Amino acid sequence: MPSAANETPRAAAPVVSPPPAERIFDVAPEEDLLYSLSADGKRKFMYPLVRKGRYWQIRRALAYALFALFVALPLIPVGGNPAFQIDLLTRRTHVFGGTFYPSDNLILAAFGFGVIVTVFFVGSTFGRMWCGYACPQTVYLEFLFRPIETFLEGGPHKQKRLNDGPMTQKKLVIKTAKWIIWTAVALLMSTTFLAYFLGWDRLVHEVAPDPLAWKGALFVIGLVSAAILFDFGWFRDQMCTIACPYGRLQNVLSDRDTILVAYDVKRGDPKVKLKDRVAGVIAGDCIECRACVNACPTGTDIKRGLQPECIGTAQCVDACDEVMRGQGKPIGLIKYTSETEQQGGVRHTWRPRNLAYLGLMTIAWTTLAVLLLTRGAALVEVVRGGREPYRMLPTGEVANQQRIKITNQLPETQRFTIEVLSPVGATLVLSESPVVVDPDHQSNVNAVATVPRSVFVDGQAPLRYRVTSDKGFAKDVEFLLLGPYGSGGGQ
Ligand code: SF4
Ligand code: SF4
Repeated sequence: MPSAANETPRAAAPVVSPPPAERIFDVAPEEDLLYSLSADGKRKFMYPLVRKGRYWQIRRALAYALFALFVALPLIPVGGNPAFQIDLLTRRTHVFGGTFYPSDNLILAAFGFGVIVTVFFVGSTFGRMWCGYACPQTVYLEFLFRPIETFLEGGPHKQKRLNDGPMTQKKLVIKTAKWIIWTAVALLMSTTFLAYFLGWDRLVHEVAPDPLAWKGALFVIGLVSAAILFDFGWFRDQMCTIACPYGRLQNVLSDRDTILVAYDVKRGDPKVKLKDRVAGVIAGDCIECRACVNACPTGTDIKRGLQPECIGTAQCVDACDEVMRGQGKPIGLIKYTSETEQQGGVRHTWRPRNLAYLGLMTIAWTTLAVLLLTRGAALVEVVRGGREPYRMLPTGEVANQQRIKITNQLPETQRFTIEVLSPVGATLVLSESPVVVDPDHQSNVNAVATVPRSVFVDGQAPLRYRVTSDKGFAKDVEFLLLGPYGSGGGQ
């Protein structure tokens, strides 16, 4: 974090003038409107003049790591399956070697609750650092799509001139090249996105050779690519300032000790431009150069205080630090701080609100760990089969049909056997025995249980199975048989 510099003497003598290019964009309106809107309601396009300071470098390193993670997760195999995949066709989810089924609803619930309370904890403790450092919107815009644009069109000044200028042959070539490259990137991203649900194996060996047989997959790739191009090519900062609900949620999660990016009013004010700093003028450290505003991807003027449009990129911090260095002043006129610190207090990292979130987080993730560690070698579910609830046999016995679903949760094949424990006199006919189930696969076995009529009380009788496997799995399952009421009842 930048060091505080509240005691900096207020000097009148300028040292270094900021480059004139800093002042060419009037991106922050004087009206209290959204920064991305002109006073007449038209879209104001942002051309952030980024300074590659220390926070920008941390963000770039993190962005590259996140790109690599996005590509690697559905690609790298762990235990024979992708590191992460929600396989829609087989309704299985692979996570780092573990396979989960829709029936793992407790695990899914613990995971979902863990994610929600973690978001709450991060938001209340670190403010909008998620948005500035890890949100795909910021990461892909600032470190993939915008760099491609800068490579082809030049820096922000050139981009603005190109956009404002008439359509020429050169402009047409540059814009066409940019959109072709962006489209290629969007297609790669959307195909990778689809691999999270279909898997690269299926995409390469089934979808690619016969794409017309996979119209749904093509539609998803087209739709996601179009959304990516719309968002990163045009909508951009408006996604954060207009569409995204997280900014509004952040207002609820924040308190006076939440970390935020802020301008040091005591040190910076009164703001006086370099040209106006003459002897006798009382001036703070802010020279009104607007480098902070011009660096901001949402056009926010952070000097006006905390605003929902600020997405915590710290680009203004890097820009102002560069200006301060040029002025021979300490960095940190804009810095990470908190409302408490701004008012001269001491920030409390731990307070009841985020401790409560931390407690809930601990409960959620511990529950998930316990559920995962105690997850058995197999899942057994029994559901009623056949169209009739029961059948009276000529022998006087009662037959019930069931479907026994066995899921092998081990990374090796298991051979299951099923036997009836009770009631006395019950017999079981299975469609297959033993039941051989491959790793991470399910098998459905049809079963007919025949029991004496005398075991029924009020038309019901409990049946107990024992399912065992050659890998040490054993589970007793109870199922309620249906039958006739009374000793002489029939169907
Ligand atoms: S806060 Fe820093 S970057 Fe922003 S106008 Fe003042 S001196 Fe310039
Ligand atoms: S005000 Fe600063 S931290 Fe906030 S979005 Fe703009 S550049 Fe990023």
